[in-house]
Amino acid sequence: MFHDWLRMLAKLVTNDDSTKSAICPECGERSIKFVYVGDRKSSIGCLPAWCESCNKGIIISRVGIPQGVRMIDFKDLESIKKEIPNFIHVAPDSKKNR
Ligand SMILES: [Zn+2]
Repeated sequence: MFHDWLRMLAKLVTNDDSTKSAICPECGERSIKFVYVGDRKSSIGCLPAWCESCNKGIIISRVGIPQGVRMIDFKDLESIKKEIPNFIHVAPDSKKNR
């Protein structure tokens, strides 16, 4: 569910190392990936996070990008395509649709 993703992400972004232990809210696998995409100067961007196992995820838009984290410039479409798969977006109201 969307809220589980948000809660998980909040934990993830505070500690990069915890990525390995983050559990996917959809399938329960420990295969969560995330990367900041944005503008280095303004340090504003978005944060896609997805599960490599079930290919579901969310994108949080307009987030502040912390200093020192790995990020992809939003103009670097090549890297974005290479690194971020075409995952299925978990909608905030996905609970109702099921
Ligand atoms: Zn999953």
